[in-house]
Amino acid sequence: DPHTGAAAALAALHAEHAPEHLEVSAKSYRVDPYARPGERYATVRALAAGGAAAAEALLGELKEAGLRGMGGAGFPTALKWRTVRDAVGDEKFVVCNADESEPGTFKDRELLASLPHLVWEGLLLGALVVGARRAIVYLRHEYELERRVLAREQEIAARIAGELGVALEIFVSPGGYIMGEETALLEGLEDRRGEPRNKPPYPGIAGLFGQPTLINNVETLTMATAIAARGAAWWKAQGLRGCAGLKFVSISGDVVHPGVHELASGTTIAELIALAGGVPGGAAVQAVMPGGASTAFLGADALGTPLDFDHLRRAGSSLGSGAVIVVAEGRDMLELGANVTRFFRNESCGKCVPCRVGTEKAVVLLDRWLAGEADEGTPELLRQLDRTLAQTSICGLGQVALLPVVSILDRLPPTRPARRS
Ligand code: NAD
Ligand code: SF4
Repeated sequence: DPHTGAAAALAALHAEHAPEHLEVSAKSYRVDPYARPGERYATVRALAAGGAAAAEALLGELKEAGLRGMGGAGFPTALKWRTVRDAVGDEKFVVCNADESEPGTFKDRELLASLPHLVWEGLLLGALVVGARRAIVYLRHEYELERRVLAREQEIAARIAGELGVALEIFVSPGGYIMGEETALLEGLEDRRGEPRNKPPYPGIAGLFGQPTLINNVETLTMATAIAARGAAWWKAQGLRGCAGLKFVSISGDVVHPGVHELASGTTIAELIALAGGVPGGAAVQAVMPGGASTAFLGADALGTPLDFDHLRRAGSSLGSGAVIVVAEGRDMLELGANVTRFFRNESCGKCVPCRVGTEKAVVLLDRWLAGEADEGTPELLRQLDRTLAQTSICGLGQVALLPVVSILDRLPPTRPARRS
């Protein structure tokens, strides 16, 4: 039986290249549908055997599951895959965006280290559905251990990919926060300076070398594999409080045990903080950033909010990149807001004026405020700058750069007066 033979060969390869050899602890996660290594890549084999009907069925499952992009934007995954499948081009590409660099975000790192087979499997599923012959993992340059784990798994995935005519590749990002923005990433892959492109056209229509390109985050591809293996109904049943599916979240800041958790979607912020051991010394929570540095701060009154896209949007923030940053009572919120703004000023690529000039202007205003030398008009000036950057910046960095600090002004008014008394 060729299937049994392939499974045995895969099991042997997995045994030979077990993650323990790379000093990565093998953990068990609910999202992994495979009890034994030899079962892996079953969804790819089924999709290849099923042709166009199987591809349509998988798109239907992804749509039914309601899977959304886990890089931060939450774009419907089925719609993105459909867009690239239907797009016309000389060739097509699939890219896994593993250039995780949003402050506070380290969930993809855990997935790459512990479940690399689900990432390659998701990438191969995407390649088959859209008709791509080249599949690339675009990896954060500091993730060397994860690169080694991925490369070992690539040897296994490449056997199946080779039979299907898909070439697999790991491309190490040149480095820098902006290189994870999907169009700057494309520039990097094309060996050009890493600056974002104007969108639209979206990469799904005109991406790598101008061709239709499917770009998905590590976790999105992992979840797509789980849905392909177990179906949309299983996926939806994993959530709590009416939310669908699973979510990997990193938690950091003022908690006893920062780390990564695989949660049922709909777990509340307070429940996650408890899983992380609570706040050191039992201090009260002053604020949380629920989705990394690009999301608005929420006050302690929002701790009961379930962690999912819709609940957090209604609460006035975002699930973003699944990175909860906890701020205990006693921290200086204005200093924190200025710190986040400095980060975006430093990481601005400088391509467009509003972001290049506006982030620097905001940092000057905030530094003056921190020194007690601002005037009463400073908060309104910061709000105006925020609106300008949100409307006129080319990419997400400039569009959200002042969102965190303005959320502090709106929800957690800093007690620090503009002028020294
Ligand atoms: P976006 O809303 O512009 O796009 C989201 C995705 O949907 C993209 O892949 C885009 O190509 C696609 N898309 C949007 N409209 C489309 C359409 N009409 N047809 C086809 N495809 C379409 O957001 P973005 O700028 O890509 O991402 C912003 C998010 O990134 C933020 O919310 C932030 O949380 C997150 N982020 C994550 C990290 C990280 O390390 N994970 C770092 C920085 C920012
Ligand atoms: Fe570069 Fe900022 Fe413009 Fe984005 S918004 S293209 S980071 S200058």
